[in-house]
Amino acid sequence: MRIDVLTLFPNMILPVIKESIIGRAMYEKKITINVIDFRDYSTNKHQKVDDYPYGGGAGMVLQVEPIVKALRSIEGYQDALKLIMTPQGEPYLQTTAEKFARCDHMIILCGHYEGFDERVRAYFDLEVSIGDFVLTGGEYAALVVMDSVVRLIPGVLNKEASFQEDSFSEGLLEYPQYTRPRVFEGKEVPEVLLSGHHEAIRAWRDSQRLERTKKRREDLYKKYRKR
Ligand code: SAM
Repeated sequence: MRIDVLTLFPNMILPVIKESIIGRAMYEKKITINVIDFRDYSTNKHQKVDDYPYGGGAGMVLQVEPIVKALRSIEGYQDALKLIMTPQGEPYLQTTAEKFARCDHMIILCGHYEGFDERVRAYFDLEVSIGDFVLTGGEYAALVVMDSVVRLIPGVLNKEASFQEDSFSEGLLEYPQYTRPRVFEGKEVPEVLLSGHHEAIRAWRDSQRLERTKKRREDLYKKYRKR
């Protein structure tokens, strides 16, 4: 998979993607990530890419021209899935990440300031929101999307690490996990996990997933029950 990120703040993205699992996936050439500073496509001699909003109001608005020019500089942009990070977008879910993980090429636009000129929307396929809150910039959201998508690409996670039972992947939250020590300050690991009885462990985990989801996320639980 190839991901191109359009941003005014490449340094909010570059150091992060070099680390951990995304970094390893890049190193092993399972993914390619290019970060494009759309200020390089400014037509203004001071390299400005924002301006005052027509009609007045607070803050600055990103201009359409540098963004579209930067987009068109990307090889194969016509066939890529083109996303805008915005709090006004479609809520981002695990199922969205699963859908995105199947594409070959994604382009992600990060907004800043008051957002972008409305006409930018015509050049992108989908608007994505990572939650009902407002961030200072789309870079945080783009990192969330990239991380959650890249870990689903076959071969990116270690063989032993399974995402099939992760929270949300089957519409439920994950069961409780424990590791050594067996007892910590009087808090014990459930006996069944020490039993070596695979079927009993499976049954315990399944019931914990249901119970936990019902208690913490009734919305998910109801949806799961209706399936
Ligand atoms: N004025 C805009 C509005 O009310 O819709 C918010 C602009 S916000 C301060 C600046 C940028 O951060 C946005 O253009 C977007 O790229 C990003 N952003 C903020 N909140 C976001 C969210 N919940 N999901 C995705 N991107 C977000």
